[in-house]
Amino acid sequence: MADVMTPEQRSRCMSRIRGTNTSVEVRLRRSLWQAGLRYRLGRRLPGRPDITFVAARVAVFVDGCFWHACPTHGVAPKANAEFWRTKIARNVQRDFEVNRLLRAEGWTVIRVWEHEIENDLAKCVRRTAATVRRAAATLRRASPARARHHRVQASQRP
Ligand SMILES: [Zn+2]
Repeated sequence: MADVMTPEQRSRCMSRIRGTNTSVEVRLRRSLWQAGLRYRLGRRLPGRPDITFVAARVAVFVDGCFWHACPTHGVAPKANAEFWRTKIARNVQRDFEVNRLLRAEGWTVIRVWEHEIENDLAKCVRRTAATVRRAAATLRRASPARARHHRVQASQRP
């Protein structure tokens, strides 16, 4: 294959293929923390969300562009095309299932593309903060007693 990528593009591309979107996850977490949003990891929930806001019941996933078939960057490699198509289609199907399971348990699900974090991290933070505020307000209306219990967390906003 002709070498047409800059080293930076190559590195981004390889990171997509390996599925190591760890650094974008960390960037999002760090910015949320700086904005005053206190999160936890969601390892015990369906789909293992990358970030959770337990009081507001918001789960955030950072989806790698390659592994989750981003409309802009989710192009299957030409080699072993069928293998990759099948594998990635399964991931997308699982994402839908996980969204459904979490929503059924009262969670609000946010999915952030890896490229959105790379392109406009501040926007990702604003979107997450707005969703957490909205979800917390909805829960307060639905259950005032529970909201009192979680007042401390809910008031931690940027
Ligand atoms: Zn993308």
